[in-house]
Amino acid sequence: MTRPRPKLIALGLVLFCALLLVAVRAARVEQVHRETLYVFGTLVEIEIRGERRDTARAATTSVGRLLQSLHHDWHAWRPGALGDLNAAIAAGDAGNVDDRLAGVLRTGRRLACQSGGLFDPAIGGLIGLWGFHADTPPEGAPPARAEIEALLAARPRMTDLQIEGTRVRSANPAVQLDLGGFAKGAALDLAAADLRARGIENAVLNAGGDVNVLGTHGDRPWRVAIRDPFVWGAVGAVSLRPGEVLYTSGNYERYFEHDGERFAHIIDPRTGYPVREIVSVSVLDTDGARADAAATALSVAGRAGWPRVAAAMGVSAVLMITDSGALLATPAMADRLDPAGEAFPEPVEIVPLPARAAAPACTG
Ligand code: ADP
Ligand code: MG
Repeated sequence: MTRPRPKLIALGLVLFCALLLVAVRAARVEQVHRETLYVFGTLVEIEIRGERRDTARAATTSVGRLLQSLHHDWHAWRPGALGDLNAAIAAGDAGNVDDRLAGVLRTGRRLACQSGGLFDPAIGGLIGLWGFHADTPPEGAPPARAEIEALLAARPRMTDLQIEGTRVRSANPAVQLDLGGFAKGAALDLAAADLRARGIENAVLNAGGDVNVLGTHGDRPWRVAIRDPFVWGAVGAVSLRPGEVLYTSGNYERYFEHDGERFAHIIDPRTGYPVREIVSVSVLDTDGARADAAATALSVAGRAGWPRVAAAMGVSAVLMITDSGALLATPAMADRLDPAGEAFPEPVEIVPLPARAAAPACTG
């Protein structure tokens, strides 16, 4: 009988443990957890990779709760915290809100200021007048010009808001807050922070094509498509780096038609009328609230004005699709955008951004 050889046994054991560790890690990496929620008027898909099932499940439950409560608190026309604040503002009173709402209002005020007022969540009165304060698209004729003029004359602006801690008042009672232009971005930023705080490293939060990512999709980046507004399919796709976001404002999803004319749900605060010209704007960034607000602002800025507004808001990677189907991209976006099929539907025109001008002091 051969004698047991302790060295060999020990070596075998070490090898066995190492293999076991590799196997466990591989199993962890392949672990994929998906859940879908209905919030912010859209389906939000959460995918978490490489975590134990109970950790991933607890994280999606927490994010679900967070998004539901933000959806309720920030809703522009259903009863809730924002509705109470709007009522207080209309009555000339101050309102008390929670930290999160105060925070998002500060962010909205700063972004509105940087956009030169093209993105302005204080124009809730106008958005309601056009019939977009409803779950279904408006029907019938557009509002009378006199009604639009009256609201414009009252000049509601985010910069009218005074926010002290969690106490909010407005110098102008015509301010009616509608966070629809950046609520998704601000909410997904909070959701991503919640996932990070729970130790989740690889995840995607996808709200109908508006996306925040954490880490990677296994051994490759998370890849997100940008929809073609004219035909079923995608114009292109972007591989997102860890922590990046991609937001698209489309005029092709929420709108109403009257006498053959299409009225989009993005309103130009200067004229009180829905935007035309730009059909879709995508912004690649590292901050969801800023990307979402910028996508809305650049839709309003139109073909002539958008590069200046993008620079003022501090976003560098932008794709624009005009009503005639032209594709315009900043150099930073062109570097990252791949065609969905063989080639882009139209050649991509590269539009450099101006240097960021000395911005007015936009406080948050
Ligand atoms: P989507 O919902 O398609 O992503 P947006 O992010 O542009 O598009 O949000 C559009 C919403 O933003 C509108 O439904 C309305 O609630 C609000 N909104 C419309 N015009 C403006 C504007 N000029 N500034 C800020 N918010 C706006
Ligand atoms: Mg937006």
